[in-house]
Amino acid sequence: MGFRRNPLSMDELRELARKRFLGRTASSAKALSVAEAQRLFEELEIHQIELELQNEHLNTTRMQLESALTQSNEFNDFAPVGIFSLDAAGTITKLNLAGASLLGRERARLLGSRLGLFVADVDRPQFNALLAQATNSGDVQSSELTFSNKGPLVSHVQIKVAGLGPAQGWQIILVDITERRLAEEQLRASEERWKLALEAAGDGVWDWNVVTGEQIFSRRFEQLYGFAEKEYGHHLDDWVSRIHPDDKDRVISEHQACLSGKTASTFIEFRGQCKDGSWKWVLSRGAVVSRNAHGNAQRMIGTHVDISKQKMTEEALRVASHFQQAVFDSLAAHIAVLDQAGTVMQTNAAWRQYTVDSGFAARPCCQEGSYLKILGCLTEQDPQTVQAAQAGITAVLAGELPYFQLVQPFFTPLDKRWFSLKVTPVHDGEERLVVSHEDVTQIKTAELNSLTLANRDTLTGALSRRNFFNLAEQEVVRSIRYALPLMVLMLDLDHFKVINDRYGHAAGDVILQKFVQNVTGVLRESDLIGRIGGEEFAVLLPNTPLEGGRALAQRIVERVRADPVQVNGHLIAYTVSIGAGCLSSETSFAALLSLADAALYRAKDGGRDRLEVGPAGAP
Ligand code: GH3
Ligand code: MG
Ligand code: MG
Repeated sequence: MGFRRNPLSMDELRELARKRFLGRTASSAKALSVAEAQRLFEELEIHQIELELQNEHLNTTRMQLESALTQSNEFNDFAPVGIFSLDAAGTITKLNLAGASLLGRERARLLGSRLGLFVADVDRPQFNALLAQATNSGDVQSSELTFSNKGPLVSHVQIKVAGLGPAQGWQIILVDITERRLAEEQLRASEERWKLALEAAGDGVWDWNVVTGEQIFSRRFEQLYGFAEKEYGHHLDDWVSRIHPDDKDRVISEHQACLSGKTASTFIEFRGQCKDGSWKWVLSRGAVVSRNAHGNAQRMIGTHVDISKQKMTEEALRVASHFQQAVFDSLAAHIAVLDQAGTVMQTNAAWRQYTVDSGFAARPCCQEGSYLKILGCLTEQDPQTVQAAQAGITAVLAGELPYFQLVQPFFTPLDKRWFSLKVTPVHDGEERLVVSHEDVTQIKTAELNSLTLANRDTLTGALSRRNFFNLAEQEVVRSIRYALPLMVLMLDLDHFKVINDRYGHAAGDVILQKFVQNVTGVLRESDLIGRIGGEEFAVLLPNTPLEGGRALAQRIVERVRADPVQVNGHLIAYTVSIGAGCLSSETSFAALLSLADAALYRAKDGGRDRLEVGPAGAP
């Protein structure tokens, strides 16, 4: 729309007309001509039209402005928050649709109502205080309020209040936070529920604000330590100060590991102090339940459970086990506990000491832990003993025998000791076995000695004929069963009748004694010497092959020849003939002995003072 800018006002037009009229009358003293008057009127009309046009424009602008204002109110209506204008009395003078919706009434009916009436009684003082603060401070005030449950559709709002100036009223924005508050309440209720559940299960609950150090302890938690309600404290320090000094470092470091995320949760047993100063074993479990954006722990929740009884049981078990081990260790017998597979699970001090002292501990068989291998190692693979032990263990495990004991003690060649072996089952569900090795070396030696005394030749100390034959027969059977080499020597002093005749019978006796000492000096522990007749002796060499036996017999011949005996001022030289037999196809000692005997005859025939090995023609 075009119009002349800044047209003169009506008063200005009138003044202009008056000046022109007066000026003309004054200068020409002529009356205003009709034409001039006509032009003036035209000019006035033009101005009049321009004014009207201007008014029209103003009206349009006003209408646009009013329309814009209306639109602005409509936009407010679309705002997702409630917007209210209150007058100085707190009465609603304006509100948007969302505001009306929050309060649950039509907008028209709310105009003129006091907003404070919708606030719950309990929060109304807070609401009034907010209004006052907004006016006084000039700043926007903000808080959360609960609405009265009569009328409003929402129960919780966030409120922002701006004062419009003293006695001018307020502009208010309300945001519905009901859902958030309900969610929080549900969370709280759910927390309450699991806390109650934990408490009912006997667990004391702790809830630690990691940032502030504030710690909440449940009723059951306080009861656990003998405290009355709210008596335990409300800070981390209250708990830490009641941890046993010996446990404190461990407990703190476990919690730090959990806070830092190194571990997902804590599971610690420690002693906590009760109100009466006594200590109680508890199991503490906990986990971080919230972390901030940087991953820093904000809150940790956990429980304490009384494990005193469990600890007492554990302690009793520990004491019992300690006692059992002490009893084991006090026994002189070497004891090992085996599992069903025959593996050594536990040993006593005597067992350990023996295996170390004897050098068995370092052997692979000992380190593998199989009992039968250890036994094989101890007996230097004496198959009779190992097989008998194996059969005994199997029978005991199968319940066929109440216990098993080796009939004869076993011999350990390395340290020349005898052990009695006994296997006893332990019926404790695990079906273990206790094996004991009792050192019977002294008894066995005494037994052997007494046997020896009873069965030895009193003049020379060699085994008596009968005893020698008995032992030799057993040895032959053993050697045949296990295919071990065995040799028998027959020894006969040469021309002994002549010695007797020349030096006397007593001198002959001395020579017989010296001879046996000489022979014994070259024999091994396991070899046997027996007096078969007057000046005839037999030697049994178990586990000895032909070459070994031949060398030994030859040594005897040479040694006797080189060792004359001093008797009654006479140095009496003498010699011995030896016939040797090596076990091959024979099935008895007598057969083997006759083999040696035949060889002896050959030695005599061959000139005496020599060795012959049977059968005839053997190298
Ligand atoms: P050879 O070389 O053939 O064996 O001749 P030898 O004299 O040893 O054999 P013979 O069997 O003829 O003699 C054995 C002698 O041994 C006879 C006996 O007096 C003697 N004698 C046997 N027992 C004893 C004994 O206990 N003490 C003593 N001093 N002599 C004994
Ligand atoms: Mg003789
Ligand atoms: Mg003889």
